[in-house]
Amino acid sequence: MSKLDLLKPEVRPCFDAFLDRLEMRGFQYSVVETLRTSAVQEAYYAQGRRPLAEINELRKKAGLYLLGEAEGKRIITRTMESVHLTGQAADIVPVVNGKIPWVITAENADLWLAFGKLGKESGLEWGGLWPPLDTFGVGWDAPHYQV
Ligand SMILES: [Zn+2]
Repeated sequence: MSKLDLLKPEVRPCFDAFLDRLEMRGFQYSVVETLRTSAVQEAYYAQGRRPLAEINELRKKAGLYLLGEAEGKRIITRTMESVHLTGQAADIVPVVNGKIPWVITAENADLWLAFGKLGKESGLEWGGLWPPLDTFGVGWDAPHYQV
């Protein structure tokens, strides 16, 4: 089963249209996450806010891999009420030479922006427009798309 099958049926056409557009342009991509359990959301929310031992306790419960000190300090979500919990969001990222360019740089910013543009054309809201924007004009949640 594809991760996309976990999305609410009514939002699926927008995501299918987005992936079609990516494929038409020859972009390589990965669907990292769609539906999220509340245990996973709780562990994500703890990241950057709680001590590492507590974060990893929550991650273990949620079936996630354990974090190191640096990753544990990074805030990755701003809410406990993510639309991932209701199956209305997916994190979709570019793949370059088999790798995901998580850190946005001068070299890959155009690629992230091209993804965002195609997402918008498909009727999706893009987290890469959410302020604060970085020096390349990309917002804080570039992998995120929602309806
Ligand atoms: Zn997301």
